[in-house]
Amino acid sequence: MTAEDIKAFGASLAEIFDRERHHLGQLDAALGDGDHGAGMARGFSRAAQAMEAVESGDVGSVFQAGGQSFMAGAGGASGPLFATVLLELGKASRGVEQLGLAELEAGVRAAAATIGRLGKTEAGDKTMLDALLPAAEVLGCAERSGERLAVALQAAAEAARSGAEATTSMPAKKGRARYVEAAGVGHPDPGATSMALFFEALYDVYKEVEGS
Ligand code: ADP
Ligand code: MG
Repeated sequence: MTAEDIKAFGASLAEIFDRERHHLGQLDAALGDGDHGAGMARGFSRAAQAMEAVESGDVGSVFQAGGQSFMAGAGGASGPLFATVLLELGKASRGVEQLGLAELEAGVRAAAATIGRLGKTEAGDKTMLDALLPAAEVLGCAERSGERLAVALQAAAEAARSGAEATTSMPAKKGRARYVEAAGVGHPDPGATSMALFFEALYDVYKEVEGS
């Protein structure tokens, strides 16, 4: 995917998170303070503008600009953590004009490690990491077996969605959800749900570009 394709991905994220703002807010209201949808919508709206303004054909610069603006726009615990995904994808694709599976896999793997470190979180804590880790794992397998990008992206989107759904039965070990009844068992984690939307959007944009 080129820098232009990544800008289209940014625009798509802004649209999706604007549409999902209310739903994500409701998920967060059940587990926290209800601000997650608004934060994500604000973050991706700013990110998309910044990405669009990048003039270079370097994919890394587009992700980097998006990550910095997302960080400034989205608030809460999830803002800086989610920004990490864009920023690590930016680092992994610095100086690259065509994003391939190798850069994508490296960026997503690095993002999972950084979020785990910054958030002091691991798999099963009922956070965004429970959607990101399965996606990272699937991308790693696809990379090692020389899979096509389309197949890898579809598998990553499915893994992230399954991971997000699996948070429903988990008691929260991190964030505000620890303090609600039964530590939130019975409710899906909003941050993990957002992560699934992120990977689904990436696959959808890829299908569009590839088909064009
Ligand atoms: P806040 O909790 O500050 O209101 P948000 O509502 O925007 O922030 O985001 C909540 C989401 O952030 C949670 O659903 C969870 O996925 C994620 N999250 C919270 N704490 C952590 C953490 N320590 N590590 C990773 N993710 C976290
Ligand atoms: Mg919140």
